[in-house]
Amino acid sequence: NKQVVLKDYVNGYPKESDMMVTSNATICLELPKNEGGLVLLKNLYLSCDPYMRGRMNNTSKGSYTDSFIPGSPISGYGVAKVLDSTHPDFNKGDLVSGITIWEEYSLVTNPKLLTKIQHTHVPLSYYTGILGMAGLTAYAGFYEICSPKKGDAVFVSAASGAVGQLVGQFAKLCGCYVVGSAGSKEKIELLKKDFNFDEAFNYKDEQDLDVALKRYFPDGIDIYFENVGGKMLDAVLCNMRVHGRIAVCGMISQYNLDQSEGINNLMLMILKRIRMEGFLVLDYHHLYPKYFDMILPLIQEGKITYVEDIVEGLDNAPAALVGLFSGKNVGKQVVAIAHE
Ligand code: NDP
Repeated sequence: NKQVVLKDYVNGYPKESDMMVTSNATICLELPKNEGGLVLLKNLYLSCDPYMRGRMNNTSKGSYTDSFIPGSPISGYGVAKVLDSTHPDFNKGDLVSGITIWEEYSLVTNPKLLTKIQHTHVPLSYYTGILGMAGLTAYAGFYEICSPKKGDAVFVSAASGAVGQLVGQFAKLCGCYVVGSAGSKEKIELLKKDFNFDEAFNYKDEQDLDVALKRYFPDGIDIYFENVGGKMLDAVLCNMRVHGRIAVCGMISQYNLDQSEGINNLMLMILKRIRMEGFLVLDYHHLYPKYFDMILPLIQEGKITYVEDIVEGLDNAPAALVGLFSGKNVGKQVVAIAHE
C-alpha cells in the first residue's frame, strides 16, 4: 500500500523532498465480518490545497487544522470507492468524498468525515474541486461576503486556480465587470477565453501593481476577492471604491514566509468605508445543498467551465502539492491514484 509521508516539519517553501513515497504493510482487501463499523476504501482522487502547507508547520498557531505528523501519511480532501464495509451507512461499490489519506487503500474506523456521492453524472474528480471545498469556498465567499450587484467591478487574484476561476464566472453570471490576475501567459489566455473574464493580466509582468489596476479599473473596484495578500492587497486598497467589499479568502503569498509582510494602506479602509471580511469555508457547510442546486444545472448546461490539472499516480503527488506555491498548476490541482 503506497503512501505519501511527511518526513519532517517544514520551514519556508515546501519541497518535493519534504515528503517521501513509501510502501507500508500489504493491506487485506476484505474486511473481517465479525468486526462492525469498518470501511475499506480504494482512493481515487486527491485534492491539493494551499491550506495543507499550514499543516506542515510544527505549530498549529494561526491554523484551523492540526499539523500533520512527521513519519505518517498526510491527508486531505479526496474521492474514494468503498471496496468493503461492515458499517451500516456504507456499502461495497459506494463512491464517497471527504477526508482521505494519501495512500492507495485506507481502512477507516470512523467514517464520519465521509459523504456518499449522490450525483455521478459529472466527472468524479469534480468532488475535489467545483463540487467540493473549492467550489463551496467560491460560492460562500462571493455570494455571502461580497454582496454582488449587477454592474459591479470585480477583481479576483489567483484567478485561474481552483477557487478563482469559479469566483470570476459567478461574477460574470451576476452581470459584473470582471478582471483577474494570474502568473503566466497561458493562465491569462484561459481567463479570457475559457472563463469569460472581461480582462486579465499577468501580475509577474507588472512593474507597479497600482498602475496595472488603474489600467483595468479607471473608476475603481467594488469587489476584491482576495486569494494572495501582500503587495497585491496594498495595491488593491488604493483602487477600491467607496463602500467596496473585500472577501479575504486566502493569502498564499504569505504562507511560506517566517513573518507576513506588512500592509501599508489599511487606513484607506476608513476613507473609502471599505468592508473587509475574512471567512472560512468550514462555517458554510450547511450551504452545500443550496450550492449543488445552483451548480449542477450550470455544469450540465455548459454555463460553467471547470479546468483541472490532473497528475497521475502517488509518485507525482508531492511535486503536485508543492507546485501550488510556484503556480505550476493550471486550474484545480488533482492527483489521480486510480480511476474507479
Ligand atoms: P489555486 O488553485 O489558485 O493554486 C494556488 C495558486 O496561487 C497558484 O497556482 C499560483 O497561481 C498562486 N500563487 C502561488 N504563490 C503565489 C504568490 N506568492 N503570489 C501570488 N500568487 C501566488 O489554489 P486555490 O484556488 O485552492 O486557493 C486559492 C486561495 O484560497 C488560497 O489562498 C487558499 O489558501 C484560499 N482558500 C481559502 C479557503 C477558506 O476557507 N478561506 C478555502 C479554500 C482556499 P499564479 O500562477 O496565478 O501565481
